[in-house]
Amino acid sequence: MALPPLIMTDSHYKDRLFALDSPDKIPSHWRGTPFEGLINSHNFGMGIESTGKPQLLIATCIEFRYALPVPRMHAYVIRRASGRLNGSEFSVAYAIAKGVRHLALIGHNDCGMTQVQPNRDGMINALVEEGWHPDRAEEFFDYHAGRYSIADELDSLEREYIRLKRLFRRLKIAPLFYSLADNKLFVPQWYLDLKAKGGLKLGDEVADEELLSVT
Ligand SMILES: [Zn+2]
Repeated sequence: MALPPLIMTDSHYKDRLFALDSPDKIPSHWRGTPFEGLINSHNFGMGIESTGKPQLLIATCIEFRYALPVPRMHAYVIRRASGRLNGSEFSVAYAIAKGVRHLALIGHNDCGMTQVQPNRDGMINALVEEGWHPDRAEEFFDYHAGRYSIADELDSLEREYIRLKRLFRRLKIAPLFYSLADNKLFVPQWYLDLKAKGGLKLGDEVADEELLSVT
């Protein structure tokens, strides 16, 4: 599978991202946090020194063209198609209970989960070859496709960030965007705009059932 173009030559993304092309571009509120170490490792080749305690939870897509540059004894990692965490909230709660206070929520370009429907026949056939009844395979695909498919990687990242901020009030969440060809992290422009406006306004509502599903 080929790599997509460099992100800043791709009109679909280039005006929607902020490049972290020098360490001083890292947002100031992320300095001195595990987010800074993750970005430094990704973009500037600086190693991460493990403390032996979990510092970070990283959530990202299962994408095989992406390898995380983190050492052992440093981060919990949830890899799931599209990188959204619906259905993995229990894992988030576990990491928090183990002392983690920072979640790096990493989307990426050219995500296969924007192409779920075109893969319908291929996925159903694969299940049938695994021994599934064709009706069961179709039902399974149609039930889960909506939970995993996304229309646009950056919009989906924004919606998931907001949902998780409402669900986990104390957890610091950094939405990041990985460019496959650049092998670098970028910051979504929507996040910087949101921060410039004073951040997300959370009301008094408590986590409810609705927050445990995404549409
Ligand atoms: Zn993906």
